[in-house]
Amino acid sequence: MALSDDLRDLYQQVILDHSKSPRNHGQLTCDCVHVHGDNPSCGDEIDVYVKFSDDGSIADIKFDGQGCAISQASASMMTVKVKGSSRTKVNTLMQDFRSTVMGEGSIQDEDALGELQLLEGVQKFPQRVKCAMLGWRALEQAIQQAEEAKC
Ligand code: ZN
Repeated sequence: MALSDDLRDLYQQVILDHSKSPRNHGQLTCDCVHVHGDNPSCGDEIDVYVKFSDDGSIADIKFDGQGCAISQASASMMTVKVKGSSRTKVNTLMQDFRSTVMGEGSIQDEDALGELQLLEGVQKFPQRVKCAMLGWRALEQAIQQAEEAKC
């Protein structure tokens, strides 16, 4: 699907905004799960820190890292979306975001995705898909670690 000029402008603005002023940037030190992810083909690196509530929802999340604008902007947008969300909501968001950037599967909750839908432009570029997914992969691992720790 070709992006209209307006959408392309918006896409660039949002990516630029988030990569220049990343939200929830930094580290969490106490009582949190820390996952490091990297994307060697692009040189992107990311550290995701997640603090889970007792009910499994995401109480707080921060990220740190360096790399291309897409990897950092996507992680920044992710933290905004998942902070305070229940595990179920995060899982849906994670699946929907993957479907969006891979260009396959169906979207379950378009409203929840919001501006993340702007990243659908990367689906034509497999290398960029890895950049966009980097932070999300780290979050997925953090959730797995938290679940294993409870067993
Ligand atoms: Zn990248």
